[in-house]
Amino acid sequence: MRIHELKRRLREAGAGPSHEQRILRLWSHALPRDSGRRLPGTFFPSSLLQALPAIEAELAGLARIHAIHPGADGSERLLVALADGQTVESVLLPRDGLCVSSQVGCAVGCQFCMTGREGLLRQVGSAEIIAQVALARMRRPVRKVVFMGMGEPAHNLDNVIEAIDLLGTVGNVGHKNLVFSTVGDPRVFERLLHERVRPALALSLHTTRADLRKTLLPRAPAMTPEQLVAAGEHYARATGYPIQYQWTLLEGVNDGPDEIEGIVRLLSGKYGVLNIIPFNAVDGVAFTRPSWERCEQIARTLHQQGILTKLRNSAGQDVDGGCGQLRARAAEVRVVTLRRTGEVQGNKASQSHN
Ligand code: SF4
Repeated sequence: MRIHELKRRLREAGAGPSHEQRILRLWSHALPRDSGRRLPGTFFPSSLLQALPAIEAELAGLARIHAIHPGADGSERLLVALADGQTVESVLLPRDGLCVSSQVGCAVGCQFCMTGREGLLRQVGSAEIIAQVALARMRRPVRKVVFMGMGEPAHNLDNVIEAIDLLGTVGNVGHKNLVFSTVGDPRVFERLLHERVRPALALSLHTTRADLRKTLLPRAPAMTPEQLVAAGEHYARATGYPIQYQWTLLEGVNDGPDEIEGIVRLLSGKYGVLNIIPFNAVDGVAFTRPSWERCEQIARTLHQQGILTKLRNSAGQDVDGGCGQLRARAAEVRVVTLRRTGEVQGNKASQSHN
């Protein structure tokens, strides 16, 4: 179901704008119908009262928790069953964050991602995205929603934008706490700028070499790293939110001096932060994770060259059964800060992606 279809059904049942807002707000916060103070004009007409039980049952059936995998770091991976039996993952992150899935499977086919191996099975509807948030809010508060679960949000743009609009209005999530994560697609940069709720952007860079990017992300839109950063910079300046550049670190693939030089060339002076996420080894994927010492060394070198860099660990790394390792993108932050002496200090800070 999509949110505009839900709105149409509510209107057909006699809902006015204030009724509609109330129903959507309560749904997205996982609150019962009778909660909170009723403002004049928000009492429901009898035709709506009659129709609501069936609509509410349908909303409740959009997504159910199939399994819960708690992580030692305070994260919780939820395996969520959709009404047709398909499953997606949501991850409750430390400090009130939630990572949601926007597709079942994914067509981009990134070489280091298990989700990409399945191909695209189907889109996740905008109402199913909100249903993931509502499920999570039954367990804990959610003040940040990152679109970094299964799927490429740019390939399901209408549904994701509809969900972002609801979350950024009645869903009470601050706009900069909505993070649209993408491999980069010209339509995304163009379209998001014209929306009333403009999310922050996370861009999957992974390499500064156009040829390697084509290999690692075989079905990503044809944008060179330079074009990606230029589009990201434009978006960041227009919105005031720094771009979160994502870099899954693969040993012997994108961790060499050429890439470090490329990052400095591409990102110097840019309004953004580079998130380095060491690859999480999974069966069937022929990449390896660099040592933590090597990751720290790379982060330190980049810092010394003026690139704001954060080294992150994926949330719930100890949890088996994650979707294509949940893209190593819903990350528990281990921020690397540098003192004047050049000493590296790892401290845990809130995740933000991503
Ligand atoms: S990393 Fe993201 S974009 Fe790439 S295949 Fe996996 S889910 Fe799709």
